[in-house]
Amino acid sequence: MFIVRLAVLVLWALYAWDMGQIPPSGLNAFGKFVALSFFFVAPALYLLPTFEAWLRKHRNISSIALVNILLGWTLIGWVVAEAWALKKAEPVTVESAAVANKVESGAHRECPYCAETILAKAKFCKHCHKEVEPLANSEQMSSADIEALARGNRG
Ligand SMILES: [Zn+2]
Repeated sequence: MFIVRLAVLVLWALYAWDMGQIPPSGLNAFGKFVALSFFFVAPALYLLPTFEAWLRKHRNISSIALVNILLGWTLIGWVVAEAWALKKAEPVTVESAAVANKVESGAHRECPYCAETILAKAKFCKHCHKEVEPLANSEQMSSADIEALARGNRG
């Protein structure tokens, strides 16, 4: 809910800025608090793109933070950083692509007739020579396979 956070921060900053225009003598405690909060809300608003990137565990968070901090004051830099932070990371990461490749080339399953381990793509069982249905990609992986792959992937 980036829009909500942005709206709240902008409204708060404007409100606090407005309060800041009134001389302190004309403000009650709440008014002073709101006026002072500008010094917290304004930086928060400024750094919102970095925060959004952090929330999304963005891979380019350090670059986004740099653009945000160094160029944010140009407004264009801020918008660029925000757009970058909101940009979805590519759905297929290098890691998951590697897993998919491994699954495609090396996954095994059990022959339904003789219970020997055969390749998931096999059309014939190499042990009992019975015809077996080749499985679709998503069905190839047993939970054990996934675990093994995950373990191998982590190193
Ligand atoms: Zn078999």
